[in-house]
Parts: sequence; C-alpha cells; structure tokens
Amino acid sequence: MTQMQLENRHERLCPVCGSSPEAAKIYFEEHIDTSKLNEFSFASRKAPEYLCYQMVQCHRCDLVYVDRPPSQSALAEVYHAAEYDSSEEAADAARAYAGIVSGLAKKRPLKDALEIGTGTGVFLDVLKSFGCENVAGIEPSSAAIAAAPDYRRPWIREGIFRESDYAPESFDLICCFMTLEHVREPKEIASSVMNLLRPGGAFVTVTHDYRSPVNKLMGKRSPIIDIEHMQLFSQRSIGTLFDSTGYVDVTVRPFANRYALRYWTRLAPLSPRLKKMASSLLSTLGIDGLKLSVNVGNTAAIGFKPTR
Ligand SMILES: [Zn+2]
Repeated sequence: MTQMQLENRHERLCPVCGSSPEAAKIYFEEHIDTSKLNEFSFASRKAPEYLCYQMVQCHRCDLVYVDRPPSQSALAEVYHAAEYDSSEEAADAARAYAGIVSGLAKKRPLKDALEIGTGTGVFLDVLKSFGCENVAGIEPSSAAIAAAPDYRRPWIREGIFRESDYAPESFDLICCFMTLEHVREPKEIASSVMNLLRPGGAFVTVTHDYRSPVNKLMGKRSPIIDIEHMQLFSQRSIGTLFDSTGYVDVTVRPFANRYALRYWTRLAPLSPRLKKMASSLLSTLGIDGLKLSVNVGNTAAIGFKPTR
C-alpha cells in the first residue's frame, strides 16, 4: 500500500522559514533501500537502519530538511500502521522529560495539558503527578494506543494532530517530544499550538540537534539519519521556529536522555554482530538494565504565549 504513496514526492520550501531549497545545500545524500522498508521503519525507538531521503540545509534558519518529502497522507498512513516496540524506553524518556516540565509546574498551575505524539501516554501520568487536572494525548499509531493501559486510553485520541479537534486557548501546557522531526509542517504545528494555548501557556519540545558533537562524530551512523525524519533541527533552527511563531521568553538548551545500557547498545554505531556481542556481555555482567544519563545531542526548547 504505502510504498507507492511514499514515492509520490513533491518539492517544498523550508518548513521553518519558507526559504527556497535553491538557497540550501545538500546535507545528506538520499539513501533508500526499499527492500529494507517495513512497518518498523516508522516505529519509535527502533534499531537504526540508516535510511534517509535527501536532506538539504537551509542557509537562512539552519534547518536540515527533506526537500522532496512524501505527502502528509502517506506519512499519516505509515505512522498509523507503525509497530510499537518501546515501552521501557518510553517510561525512561518520560522521567527525563519530567525534569523539563517540573519547573513550569512550580511557577503556575497547569490545569489542562496536551501531549502531541503521546505513544502509550506514559508522560500523561507524569503530567497528572504535577497536578494537571485534564490531560490529553494525540497519537497516530494504533499499536501504541493498544499497548496503553486501560485507564490511560480515554485520554488518548488516535490520529494526526489537528488544531480543529480542540477548543482555542484551552491548554496551559502543550508538549511535543521527539515528534517535530516526523511531521510534514512543524511551523503549522507551532502556530496551532499557539492558538490552543491560554495566554502565558507553555509550548515544550525536545528535538534532536544535528549539530551536536555526538551526531557530528557518528556522521552517517548517527540514529538521526532516518527515513522518518522530515527535518532535523539545530539549536538555532528550533529557536527560529519558536521566535518566528511569536513565542516569548524562549529558552533552548541541551537535554540529556536517561536509558538502560541495553538500549544505548542498540543505538550504538556498531555492526549487528558487535551489538549482539556487547548486549550479551552486558547481560552476563548483569548491568544491561543499568540506567545511564547521556547527552546524545538533543535539545529542549520552551516558549510561552504572550500574555495580553
Ligand atoms: Zn529555513
């Protein structure tokens, strides 16, 4: 089904600043092996495959983006069908994201909160623990929602995020973690979020930073090289997205993720054989479940809707 749709691609302008791709240089060459593409290719936190569409780097805002992406509907369909295989990692990630949001919860009550790309909704539990009365999540993968515990399922809407599904100015906080890379139109999402936030409400994102030393070092073996990624941000380009959409008091800073060693091994730029050896060694030593905080080159950004 989706193979043909994924190959139906059209040129686009920079999805953050609107510059023409002519004002951009090739950053990653296209590397697509259609025989390797499967439903797991669009799952979260899978083992890297190093497949990607051609990506160009915008001279104006520093974004690296797919200049000829598949259509919105083709992406919606592959994400809907994506398998789900990351519950432990999702819980670890949620704990790390909690650190970003806890500061906000101390400053003002977060009564209503929304998470875009919520997966099984693990982070919605975190939001509840911060005193959010009403939590909502949106998630395109039906497998992820099916894996959510019963009590969380009513909080999660299945589908692609659409502003029209929510009332204007109805949230105090909207989060979007490791998801802005995957959408066709990050600028549209940032604008929609602005409309859905109450004055003074916060938009919080975590994105990969393609300019971080670890991603530079790993080069073509970096997990950011991924067919799922429609764009990759640097600190400057995510800052530009927030500023140009009208967010105020924007802060952009490096963010450390905390995962078990066995997961870091899966992400490491090693051959499958070496990965297997490393995994069994860690497991023999009994330390494969050890949690480790590493700055793998991610960025946390926070911006606020202006108060009138
Ligand atoms: Zn740009």
